[in-house]
Order: sequence, then structure tokens, then C-alpha cells
Amino acid sequence: MNKQLPAEFRAEIGERFASDFLTKEASDLETYGRDWTRIYDAAPSAVVFPRTTEQVSAFLKLCSLHKIAIVPSGGRTGLSGGAVAANGEVVLSLSRMNKIHPVDLLSSTVRVQAGAITQAVHEHCEPLGLTWPIDFSAKGSSHIGGNISTNAGGQRVIRYGLTRHWVNGLQVVTMNGDILELNGTLQKNNTGLDLCQLFIGTEGTLGIITEATLKLTPLPVHTELFFFATNNLSSSLELLRHTKLHGPFTILTFEYLTDDCLNSVLKMGKHKSPFETASDSYVLLEVECVNTEAQKEKLDDWMRTALENDLIVDGVLAQSHEERNDLWALREVVSESLSAQGLVHKNDIALPIAKLDEFVKAMQSLFAKNYSNLKLFLFGHLGDGNFHVNFMKPEDMEKSKFLEICSAADLEMFATVKKFGGSVSAEHGIGLLKKKALQYSRTPAELAIFKQIKQSLDPLNLLNPGKIFD
Ligand SMILES: Cc1cc2nc3c(=O)[nH]c(=O)nc-3n(C[C@H](O)[C@H](O)[C@H](O)COP(=O)(O)OP(=O)(O)OC[C@H]3O[C@@H](n4cnc5c(N)ncnc54)[C@H](O)[C@@H]3O)c2cc1C
Repeated sequence: MNKQLPAEFRAEIGERFASDFLTKEASDLETYGRDWTRIYDAAPSAVVFPRTTEQVSAFLKLCSLHKIAIVPSGGRTGLSGGAVAANGEVVLSLSRMNKIHPVDLLSSTVRVQAGAITQAVHEHCEPLGLTWPIDFSAKGSSHIGGNISTNAGGQRVIRYGLTRHWVNGLQVVTMNGDILELNGTLQKNNTGLDLCQLFIGTEGTLGIITEATLKLTPLPVHTELFFFATNNLSSSLELLRHTKLHGPFTILTFEYLTDDCLNSVLKMGKHKSPFETASDSYVLLEVECVNTEAQKEKLDDWMRTALENDLIVDGVLAQSHEERNDLWALREVVSESLSAQGLVHKNDIALPIAKLDEFVKAMQSLFAKNYSNLKLFLFGHLGDGNFHVNFMKPEDMEKSKFLEICSAADLEMFATVKKFGGSVSAEHGIGLLKKKALQYSRTPAELAIFKQIKQSLDPLNLLNPGKIFD
């Protein structure tokens, strides 16, 4: 707790940094003290905005000396409370460190500062026919440092994998002020423990990421987007199998939503279903392929086989840029549409794909038996076994009662996730929100190693304290 920053600390800040380095403005504290979860009260004591890695290093040394706790802050789009400062910590925002260097074409990498916006990195690389393939709807606000610290996933994990596959090197500042240059542009480097990978996905608890060397890949030359209606989750999974085995293309995205989710989007009044009759489930499939007449025939044949085998009930192929955007919106807007209707409790779980159907049936019977007053909304990145399980508060239920029921339902769901060999957090991380859940996915022996690593890098527990574990 450092609500009142010590006078000596403040004096040193004044001497060493420019006057705009630190703010205590109420609106800044409110803005930078929270992330997208919106359920924690923001209560930082100050926000600092370094411009260079050397300033980050000097500041961390000063904080170590005065035992000041820090919360690293990216674009604050996190969904687990990782960037929340609720206990008088100082927020360290990377937003002024947003430089993107020229692309290194020979190594297909680009070096960026941690505060670079994800979408800006995409736009920087696109004219060269290259991309950093981490893509999701918060990319217009999220930072590269935040993506790396959460090991972000997104819509194209089925094709490209998670963020950690696309980080070649990192610059990290540790709590004692050391500046580590980890790997850089090296393609090969077998010199012991991979410290670059160690920092990825640790939600700002081990060090401040100040720069990253990102791996790039060629942009897909031509893509097509389908939206399918299916009978249920089982047939959506059969469609995935059929697509993987027989699709005349490379899958980029395989997303899923139930009819309840689609209805929630339609209720907003801005979007239309491409189908006249409703189905139980829907799949959004984006593929990379060549753009020839012969290919179009292959796609038609493939879609016809899927129809004949009852894998799909109906399907459309986007014919224009506008239609693509409309179909994408039906999946991307689900989360926002649910939040617009009331209080939603969110979960982000992963299951082995082969167990997904069985898991969902187990969940449905658990909810029918014990939580019949909670409505379940299922959607997510089906192609990589990642489901967003949302519960909506019934209108006539008190908020406190709803949260109490959600906690109980969560624990039963996590036990089911564990039974099926899944993970309680697929891509959003643990932060503050999922701390109680961690024990369902990590053993006591694993947690003990986490704590030893934390102790060795941050012995005073000043870096994002209370996140991931206490
Ligand atoms: C509409 C919406 C859709 C989303 N979709 C997806 C999705 O499909 N897939 C997905 O994975 N996520 C998704 N997210 C979650 C979120 O966008 C990601 O977790 C993102 O990577 C967070 O980046 P950020 O810059 O906003 O990080 P923040 O929220 O600012 O921080 C996240 C964590 O990283 C730490 N941190 C931030 N910067 C640094 C740094 N430089 N050094 C050390 N630690 C740091 C913070 O302390 C915190 O613990 C979505 C969020 C929203 C709002």
C-alpha cells in the first residue's frame, strides 16, 4: 500500500525525471488504474509515463529502494484484472514507448517498443506483404507489451499459434533495474535456459517488457469467409474434422457461436442473420486459398459435400468486403452484445478438442441440475478448443446473489474442466479474476516453482503484487 508516496521518493522523481513523468490527476488514476474487467475499483497512487528503457530502469531501482509497488500497464484491454491497480500501487504505463522500427526483411522481424499498438504494427508491416499474425478485436487498443505479457491468442491460433510463437527476442527490465537483452534476432541460440520465453505470459509479475523483436510471416494472399448454420456442437466439430481432412485450403479461423449468442447480437438492431431460419449453432470459417475459377469449383464441391453429409444446414460465402465485415461482426460483437444486455460473468476455458462435446454435455446437465436460473452463452475459438463460457444475470436477481451463484458455478465448472484435462484460462490469463481457479489447472509442485521464480526476480514482491497468486 503506498497511497501516500514517501516525500523522499517524490523528491527524487522530481529531480531525475521531467515534470510530465508522473501524474496524480484523478481522471488519470481512474483511467490507468483499471482494465477491461471493470469490476475492480481503481486506486493507484500515481501513474508514470517513461519514454525510454533507461528511465524504466532508473524508476524500478528507485521503487526497489523505497519499496514502492508497481502495476505495468499496456492498452488495458485485459480481461482478468492483470493491469488493475486497486491498492495504491504506481501504474507504469508504456504508452509513450510506442516506436516501431523498420522491418528487417532478411530476418523477417520487426523491433518495436512495448507500447506499440497491435494494429499499428500490422499496418506498419502490411505494405511489405508481411504480418505479425496475432489478431483479435481489441487490437486497436492493446499494446504489444500487453499481448506478450498475456501470451494473447485470438482468431488465428488454429493457423499460427499463440503470441509466444511470434516473439523472437525481448528487452526486459527487472525489478533491480537490470536491462536484459534476450535473444534479439537470433534464429538459433542454444545457450541454456530460454529467458525470453520465460517472461511471456507472466502478466507483468517478473519484469517490465520494454522492447520486442517480433517474428513476421507473409500475409495470406487470398482469403475466403464462410458462415455456416449447424445442427449442434457435435456437427460443428464434425465439420471441423471434415474441413481439416478435405478442405481445399488452409484454415485461418474456425469460430463458433450458439443461436442464443447470435440472437444477442441481433437484438442490438445493427446486424442481420444471413439465414431465414434459425439453427442451434453457427461456425465462422476463414480460409486461405488461391483465387482461381478452378479453386471456386473446389470450394463449391467441398461445401456441397458438407451439406450432403448433414455437417451443415445452410451456409454463405462472403461475396464482398462489406459482406465479410457483416459476417465477422456476428461473431466479434457477441461479447459486447451480452454486456449491453446486463451483467455477464465471463470464463475463458480450453479443452482438448476431442473432449469438447462431452465436456459441454456435462456442463449443460450440471447447469440444468444446479444452476437452472443462469443462462449459458457459449462461443469462442472452436478450432483450438477455446470456449468463452458466459453466464447472464437474470433480471430479477440481486447482483450480490448472482455473483455468489457464479462463484459456486465456477468452482463446479473448473472441477469439470480439470476432469476433462482442460485449462481454466485459455488466453485471458489469471490476473486477479482467476486466482482461485489456478489450482484446477496447476499442481502444488508447479505453483511452488512459480513462487520460487518470482522470489528470485522480485524478492520484495513489488512487481504487480497479488496477480496470478498471492
Ligand atoms: C473486445 C475484446 C476482445 C478480446 N479478444 C481477445 C482474444 O481473442 N484473445 C486474447 O488472447 N485476448 C483477447 N482479449 C483480451 C486482451 O485484449 C488481451 O489480453 C491483450 O493481450 C491485452 O493487452 P493490453 O495491452 O491491453 O494489456 P493490459 O490489459 O494493459 O495488461 C495485461 C497484463 O499485462 C501486463 N503488462 C502490460 N504491458 C506490460 C509490459 N510492457 N511489461 C510487463 N507487463 C505488462 C499488465 O500488468 C497485465 O497483467 C480481448 C479483450 C477485449 C476487450
